[in-house]
Amino acid sequence: ELKVATEYVNNVFETVKKRNAYEFEFQQAVKEIFDSLIPLFAKEPLYIQHNILERIVEPEKMITFRVPWVDDQGNVQVNRGFRVQFNSALGPYKGGLRFHPSVNGSIIKFLGFEQIFKNALTGQPIGGGKGGSDFDPKGKSDAEIMRFCQSFMSELYRYIGPDVDVPAGDIGVGAREIGFLFGQYKKLRGAFEAGVLTGKSLGFGGSIVRKEATGYGLVYFTQEMLRDKGLDFNGATVVVSGSGNVSIYAIEKAQQFGAKVVACSDSNGYVYDPDGINLDTVKRLKEVECKRIKEYVDFHPNAEYYDGCTGIWSIPCDIALPCATQNEIDEESAKTLVANGVKAVAEGANMPSTIEAINVYLNNGILYGPAKAANAGGVAVSALEMSQNSMRLSWTFDEVDQKLQQIMHNIYQASMEASVEYGHPGNLMVGANIAGFKKVAEAMISQGVI
Ligand code: GLU
Repeated sequence: ELKVATEYVNNVFETVKKRNAYEFEFQQAVKEIFDSLIPLFAKEPLYIQHNILERIVEPEKMITFRVPWVDDQGNVQVNRGFRVQFNSALGPYKGGLRFHPSVNGSIIKFLGFEQIFKNALTGQPIGGGKGGSDFDPKGKSDAEIMRFCQSFMSELYRYIGPDVDVPAGDIGVGAREIGFLFGQYKKLRGAFEAGVLTGKSLGFGGSIVRKEATGYGLVYFTQEMLRDKGLDFNGATVVVSGSGNVSIYAIEKAQQFGAKVVACSDSNGYVYDPDGINLDTVKRLKEVECKRIKEYVDFHPNAEYYDGCTGIWSIPCDIALPCATQNEIDEESAKTLVANGVKAVAEGANMPSTIEAINVYLNNGILYGPAKAANAGGVAVSALEMSQNSMRLSWTFDEVDQKLQQIMHNIYQASMEASVEYGHPGNLMVGANIAGFKKVAEAMISQGVI
């Protein structure tokens, strides 16, 4: 059976490479999941009979569109917009929008593909999607951001809706952008459909804890991993890359759990603070003043700033939480982490570790929390926001935080159990991939060939 399963997976992967030539991030995400699924297919040939793999790697729909806008100098600018509606077996397409100059078809497809399984793992009724633009928000005025968001939504609104496709934020898209996007959708639709976007401000249908959810959820998940091995955040030294929404709330929760977070970063460089990162300073610099992390050292004379992004992984730590972007940890950085005694790596960003880096963790017995399990707290609370919007009510902080903790616990359990059932005990990557895939595959089989 193992031979048949391996042959099937390899054949479909050849097709993926042919159909998606040069889309290396997408191929990487597909490869990681495919390899994890071999033990599943060896045991359950039903999935091979239904050719689920070849169906699931093909997006149900992919939209690419022109986004023209006028900058503050009166120049006409053009960006490219994307929305990939990857899989709707479990619910309306759900996933964030990323505004970053690196965005292209490959990036959006890798993110959308991972989103399918992440969303399934949350146990919430949401399918998988992703979108965004190669627009660079850095240095743009509020008015430029607004005009861009309005233009983006002027095309996107045709394809989304509370029961169809529900975008949210990702890199470069926060509450401000969601507000502008929602305003334009409302105007074009002529109806207040609160559940069409998540990550809204609290005043018009946003959920409490949504902002904190990815970072808090990451730490709740990591806590489960540590607890199983008799370890704890309390007293641990932690390195968190990034300084955006995910990082800030991961740092906050890790500190609440008694950890010492000694470093964080942005796309220019990183700060090391031997006294522990002062989160008030980071929040003020990044959330209020939109400054670079470099300025942190002006307020904390013991801290040091270094240019470049990979150096952060040479800081000795017990727990590493990559929360910046894809492929930020390569084989070399992973080896450095291991040599310096890291005990756990859990991913707040999407696909922050290369396949070679993951192999370094696994071969050295490092606890590894893969992104689609560890960072699912954000989209989980997005689904809770959709529920609250449908009911036209708002839960309290404690209610949402409790549900988030329960969901992260369930994801950990499901991933762990699948890892045992399919012969890779403790390998949460294999476990999460199998547990997420099974839910989607079962629903696809029930719904027929569509
Ligand atoms: N962008 C987040 C993610 O990668 C959240 C998506 C959402 O809330 O829909 O999962």
